[in-house]
Amino acid sequence: MKFTEEIQRRRTFGIISHPDAGKTTLTEKLLLFGGAIQEAGAVKSNKIKKGATSDFMEIERQRGISVATSVLAFEYKSYKINILDTPGHKDFAEDTFRTLTAVDSVIVVIDVAKGVEEQTEKLVSVCRMRNIPMIVFINKLDREGKDAFELLDEIEQKLGLTITPLSFPIGMGYDFKGIYNIWEKNINLFSGDSRKNIEETIEVSDLSSPELSDLIGDTAADTLREEIELVEGIYPSFDQEAYKNGELQPVFFGSALNNFGVRELLDCFISIAPPPRPKESDLRVVHPEEKDFTGFVFKIHANMDPKHRDRLAFIKIVSGTFERNAPYLHTRLNKKMKFSSPNAFFAERKEIVDISYPGDIVGLHDTGNFKIGDTLTTGEKLNYKGVPSFSPEFFRYINNADPLKSKQLAKGIDQLMDEGVAQLFTLEMNGRKVIGTVGALQYEVIQYRLEHEYGAKCTYENLNVHKACWVDPEDENGEEFKEFKRVKNKFLAKDKHGQLVFFADSSFSLQMTEQKYPAIKFHYTSEF
Ligand code: GDP
Repeated sequence: MKFTEEIQRRRTFGIISHPDAGKTTLTEKLLLFGGAIQEAGAVKSNKIKKGATSDFMEIERQRGISVATSVLAFEYKSYKINILDTPGHKDFAEDTFRTLTAVDSVIVVIDVAKGVEEQTEKLVSVCRMRNIPMIVFINKLDREGKDAFELLDEIEQKLGLTITPLSFPIGMGYDFKGIYNIWEKNINLFSGDSRKNIEETIEVSDLSSPELSDLIGDTAADTLREEIELVEGIYPSFDQEAYKNGELQPVFFGSALNNFGVRELLDCFISIAPPPRPKESDLRVVHPEEKDFTGFVFKIHANMDPKHRDRLAFIKIVSGTFERNAPYLHTRLNKKMKFSSPNAFFAERKEIVDISYPGDIVGLHDTGNFKIGDTLTTGEKLNYKGVPSFSPEFFRYINNADPLKSKQLAKGIDQLMDEGVAQLFTLEMNGRKVIGTVGALQYEVIQYRLEHEYGAKCTYENLNVHKACWVDPEDENGEEFKEFKRVKNKFLAKDKHGQLVFFADSSFSLQMTEQKYPAIKFHYTSEF
C-alpha cells in the first residue's frame, strides 16, 4: 500500500467520559466489531474503585492493566483504528490531558440518566481549547433517562458545544424501541423485549414508510416523525468541515451494553473522523505526508518489575515512517538514537514492528532519556509544542525520611516527574521541594513507588495553595516585575524547567495580585 494510503486509512482517537458512563463497554464493543477480541469481558477497566485508595496492590494491578490497554489497535473495513486509553479517574486526569495531545479526534460518552458530569466537562473543555473534532455518544438508552431534547440542551449549555443529532432514540428505558439513524436514513429496531440483550435489527428504508407504524405502532411512529421534524428545525445540518474544525459535534444515541447503535457510530466515525492531522512545532507546521519521520513522547510508563528499571516511552508518529534500527535525533538532548525493538500495540498484545506510519503509536524502551513532550526526528531540530503542564490541585512539601537515601530519593523523584506522575516545584525562598498533583491518590502512589522502586522514603507536609500559575511578565526587567518578585517572594517557585510559578493561596489573593500587577499575566498551564 502506498504511504499516503496508509495515512488516509488511520484513525487515532480517544474515548472520554466520566467514570461509569460506559467507556470500557463501548471500547470492547468496538474491538468486537474489528474482530480484535472474541468475547465480551476481554477489555479490563482501568478504574480505581472507591475505597481502594490505600490498597497499593490494587494500584499496582491497575497500573499493570493500564499499560496493556494504553493503545488498542484494530482493523475495521479498510481502516486501521488506534484507540488511546484515557483514564477516567480524576486523579489521573493529567495523564488524560496529555493523551489528548496525541489523538486526532475523540468520542465523548455520556450516560443518558446522569447527563453531563464533572469529568466530562473538564475533558471536553480541553478538547474544545484544542479544536479536537468530537462525536458524542449518549449511552444506556435501555434505561430510563433524561428526555432526549432536554439532554441535548444540557450538552450544548454545559459543554459549550454546537451539536447536531445524527441518530435519534425511539422511546427509552422500558419503552426503548430502537433508533432512527439520521446519518444513514434508516431505522434499527430492537426486536422483542428490550430488557434482554437482543442485538437483532430490522431495517426500515425511511420515515414516511407505512411499515413504520406496523412495527412500532401509530403513536410511536407519529411521535418519531414529529421529533425528527423538530430535530431538523432546531439543529444545523451536519457539515464535515465544521466537525473537523471542532465547531460542530454530531450526536449518536445507543446502548453499548446491548451493542445497540454502536455499529452506526463506528461506521459514521470511520467515514467522517479525520486521518492524522498536521501538527505545529516551534519551527513550522509538520504534515503527515512528509517523508522524514517526526514524532513526540506523550506518555511514559514505568516497568513495574523492580529488576528491570526500563520504561516504555509512547511516541505518536506525526510524519514519515518510523523504522526499526534507523538513527533518529532526540532533539532536546541533541543525540542520535536507534531503537532495536519498537513495540506496536494491538488489542491484547504488543509486538516488535519494523515500520509504523503517521497516526500510529510506538512504544520505545527507555532507560531515562525521555521526558514527556520530547521530540524525535530524522534530523531536523524541531520541537513539538502542546504537551503543557496544568496547574495541579493539591500541593504538599516532600521531605526525606531516610537521610542515608537522599540520592535515591532525588533520582526517584526526578524519574517519576519525567513520567508525568506529578509536578515538582522548588520554592525560591528556601529551596524546599513541593509536589503538585491533580489528585490525593497520587501521593500514595509516589510514596509507594519511591520505596519499592528506588529504596527511598518520604513524608509529606501540607501546604495551602489554591492554584499554581505560570508567571508571564510583559517586561522581565521592569520595575513592576522586580517589585512583584520582592513582595511575593514567599509564594514563588520554579517548575522543573526553571519557569517561574506563583502559588496563589486563594482565588481572592490571585485576583488581588492580578489587579496589582497588570503587566504580569498568570497562566494555569505552562504553555502560553
Ligand atoms: P467506564 O467507567 O466509563 O469505563 O464504564 P463501564 O464501561 O465500566 O460501564 C459502567 C457500568 O455501566 C457497567 O456496569 C456496565 O455494564 C454498565 N453499562 C455500560 N453500558 C451500558 C448500557 O448501554 N446500558 C446499561 N444498562 N448499562 C451499561
